Amino acid sequence: MRSVLLPAVKSALGGTRFRASRDMQKHVPPGPAVFGAEAFETVYEVDQSPIGKTSRSTPATYIKVFDEIRKLYGQLPVSRVRGYSPSRFSFNAEGGRCEACNGQGAIKLEMSFLPSSYVPCEDCGGRRYNPQTLEVLYNEKSIGDVMEMTVEQAATFFATNQKIARPLSLLVDTGLGYLKLGQPSPTLSGGEAQRLKLATELTRGIGRAQNERIRKMRKPKSTLYLLEEPTIGLHMADVELLLKVLHRLVDEGNTVIVIEHNLSIIAEADYIVDIGPEAGADGGEIVATGTPEEVAQSRTSRTAPFLRDVLRGTPHSLSS
Ligand SMILES: [Zn+2]
Repeated sequence: MRSVLLPAVKSALGGTRFRASRDMQKHVPPGPAVFGAEAFETVYEVDQSPIGKTSRSTPATYIKVFDEIRKLYGQLPVSRVRGYSPSRFSFNAEGGRCEACNGQGAIKLEMSFLPSSYVPCEDCGGRRYNPQTLEVLYNEKSIGDVMEMTVEQAATFFATNQKIARPLSLLVDTGLGYLKLGQPSPTLSGGEAQRLKLATELTRGIGRAQNERIRKMRKPKSTLYLLEEPTIGLHMADVELLLKVLHRLVDEGNTVIVIEHNLSIIAEADYIVDIGPEAGADGGEIVATGTPEEVAQSRTSRTAPFLRDVLRGTPHSLSS
């Protein structure tokens, strides 16, 4: 996927011809590698890699609702009187943040021979802002209080402001309602980071669809999403949440290609390409293709018997 499909679609979209690397040419026949890529606007690989490397990145900054929240605080009467602009409410800029921790809420301890660790900032008590900034209240809450809210709490708190509430509600729908707005992104698990990326794509979809509607209902071009074994390390409940997001992306007119062994995911696909017959060097051949129901009837596919069980709704015991 990473060495063929992703670069091939990318180059097709960029108007250039994909050339497989010398190593891949052994496996990929020469010539045009992909057909139909023009149906897509972009291609995007969604993985479990972390979002942001510092505590300056949080779920709120990643899905961009933080910009709207800062704007809201900057427009409050107290802010106008005091001359506080939206940037005053940024923990990444001087002015409103706590200068003892540079708005990080924590101080990095560098210890020789030991991995560095963080302790809460004593000046702001981990709240990232200076006292003057925290005096500005919206519905009795300061920006520091807001950063302590979970996504779900904030979606209710800002219910009257759709620009803030809508993206947050999407995160709630994708099972991320328990994350705190100010939680440092590096502390998210791989599965959480992956879902946050997918949910962010959904929020972009909303904006794009609205823009397109203004442009006389022209059908927006879709995105091709590539996911390689997205269920690795996920609990069953997380797999179901992931499926929900993937279905939503497809419902909005996008295409999702997933490489996966997890039968719950395979059974939910519109179309399966079963590659085998064995793993690794003994695989690489297309064994069966079609809808889950069709592949389940295949006599050659090793997946078929397990897929039949899943489709029938009987519990199976395939260790993945
Ligand atoms: Zn501080």
